[in-house]
Amino acid sequence: MMNIKRNILLNPGPATTTDTVKMAQVVPDICPREHDFAGLMKGLRENCVRMAHGDLQKDTAVLFCGSGTINIDICLNSLLPEGKKALIVNNGAYSSRAVEVCQYYGLHHIDLRSSVFEQPSLNEVERTLDANPDIALVYTTHHETGTGILNPIREIGAMAHAHGAIFVVDTTSSLGMVPFDLHQDNVDFCMASAQKGLMAMSGLSFIVGSREIIERSKDYPKRSYYCNLFLQYDFFEKSGEMHFTPPVQTVYAAIQAFKEYWAEGEEAKFARHHRTFEAIHRGLEELGLRDVIRRDIQSGLVVSVKYPDDPNWDFGRVHDYCYEHGFTIYPGKISTTNTFRLCSLGTIDVKDIEDFFVVLKEALVKNNIQIPAHYND
Ligand SMILES: *Cc1c(COP(=O)(O)O)cnc(C)c1O
Repeated sequence: MMNIKRNILLNPGPATTTDTVKMAQVVPDICPREHDFAGLMKGLRENCVRMAHGDLQKDTAVLFCGSGTINIDICLNSLLPEGKKALIVNNGAYSSRAVEVCQYYGLHHIDLRSSVFEQPSLNEVERTLDANPDIALVYTTHHETGTGILNPIREIGAMAHAHGAIFVVDTTSSLGMVPFDLHQDNVDFCMASAQKGLMAMSGLSFIVGSREIIERSKDYPKRSYYCNLFLQYDFFEKSGEMHFTPPVQTVYAAIQAFKEYWAEGEEAKFARHHRTFEAIHRGLEELGLRDVIRRDIQSGLVVSVKYPDDPNWDFGRVHDYCYEHGFTIYPGKISTTNTFRLCSLGTIDVKDIEDFFVVLKEALVKNNIQIPAHYND
């Protein structure tokens, strides 16, 4: 085993990984068209379905080579029948990305936008569905990673189904980190990429959902060649492989990460992320730093922190000091509010957060930033 420096990534993914996952990528060269490799893919797909608590008979996992955004693109362009509309329940940057995908493909859609500081209004969703019987696909983001808000997917899913629409949810930054159950949550398709909840490497993404609906989409308009759900699914079913070259080494890392995922156990993992999140809040409170989202709608995975109103505050300098000491923090604007994010993703625990806050405090002191942090209001 090589000695690999352990960086603590507090950015919203990719996340800190174990050395065993990193090293799983160092394998003898193999042509991914060999039978041995197809066998690995089968187990990996089943694990993706299990992670989403899907039904191995009715549901399937379709893997793609790409970052998580590829899933958003694929679901929207592949699952909307001709002449029908998509409803995007949009309270953040990731659902806005889905709206952009609709715009790029020229898909009929409704962008049901609401405040990025709140959960969407279920009444508005219901009203929109009532007024638009041609909505065939409802889409939202489970955990809006830009703010840290967890959205009420189960309720939205029930409404979608009551109106005869399918429900597609971007679960990229929640799957494997907070409880999720494909069927109980009324979801037809969820999605994630290997570098988030699975704590593996970026470059491999997967969509989990209903075989029957994928098969139904066979004759929907083909809007993309590389990014079509049915084509990839069909190829997997016939050959056990991805249609085109898979990210071979990334697949090995994901297989190792699944071993570690089940060994840790889902409940234990959810609890670890949660106590890490609580430790982030404790550290922020000690420094007088404020979060921007109401605590009761926070996911337990991402904390958005408001920049202090201090003339000496300089995110870049604070970031650089932390980065030099092995901790990565991430800036982001929410509407007009300047924030940075601290996330409890990855193979980190309370001790890492405590170590981080020692370094963050040093960064504030070195830059003459007031402690407790100063805010004008
Ligand atoms: C990370 C993430 C994605 C994928 O983003 P990429 O930049 O393509 O990796 C999609 N949706 C959500 C909610 C995410 O957090």
